[in-house]
Amino acid sequence: MRIVLFGPPGAGKGTQARLLVERRQLRHVSTGIILRRAIREQTPVGQKAKLYMDEGKLVPGRLVRALAEEAISLVGNDHFILDGYPRTLEQAQWLTEYLNRHHVPLHAVVSLQVPEEVIVDRLSKRRVNKKTGENYHLDFSPPPPDVDPALIYRRQDDEPEAIRKRLEVYRRETEPLEAYFRAEGCLYPVRGVGEMDEVYERIEEVLRATEPV
Ligand code: ADP
Ligand code: ADP
Repeated sequence: MRIVLFGPPGAGKGTQARLLVERRQLRHVSTGIILRRAIREQTPVGQKAKLYMDEGKLVPGRLVRALAEEAISLVGNDHFILDGYPRTLEQAQWLTEYLNRHHVPLHAVVSLQVPEEVIVDRLSKRRVNKKTGENYHLDFSPPPPDVDPALIYRRQDDEPEAIRKRLEVYRRETEPLEAYFRAEGCLYPVRGVGEMDEVYERIEEVLRATEPV
């Protein structure tokens, strides 16, 4: 099974990807997580990427393409959930080219639909575990007491100004990809509001309908 989880920042892609990993043994490929790791490790790519990410801008495509293709190939070009890539039309074309070259087309692009006011609430109350990359929400899924509080942080790009910028970038650069995937016949809109498990069930329905037998 090869799927893309698509949607605005804060739609719940990372959260749902984790559930899919646990319940379906898929592998999570997140360009955001890969980039944040590169920043922590102060690699040359990480140092460049940080300048863009902190402000809520997209990292230049060529940098991300190499990271994404390497990560997809590392999981054997199959059984993956792609999260955060592609984010531009150019990236979508690169991805299609890569997958066609390896004869592994996507089964579904699950597009999480969440209204803007919900997104802003989710992002401003999101906290992240530095070590595992796991996402929490101060109200809906607070960090458990056994996790060292020193590991929990608020992402720089979850500050109000960066949130605003990211939503603007999303509308301009990323949202148009829905039309691209619709034309490819693999777009499945899924309502992203409600309990995390409810959203998961809606995604499951799509996967059951599209997975290979
Ligand atoms: P994305 O990866 O799309 O940016 P996340 O999975 O990090 O989104 O979710 C953003 C925030 O919203 C996190 O704080 C997460 O805990 C919270 N969240 C995710 N799904 C839900 C949901 N169904 N209901 C309430 N909060 C949610
Ligand atoms: P979110 O889960 O909130 O949507 P991500 O963790 O996916 O955020 O991405 C965080 C940041 O990393 C983005 O705002 C962007 O700066 C950078 N990034 C991640 N994926 C890409 C990509 N495919 N192209 C360009 N920049 C990216």
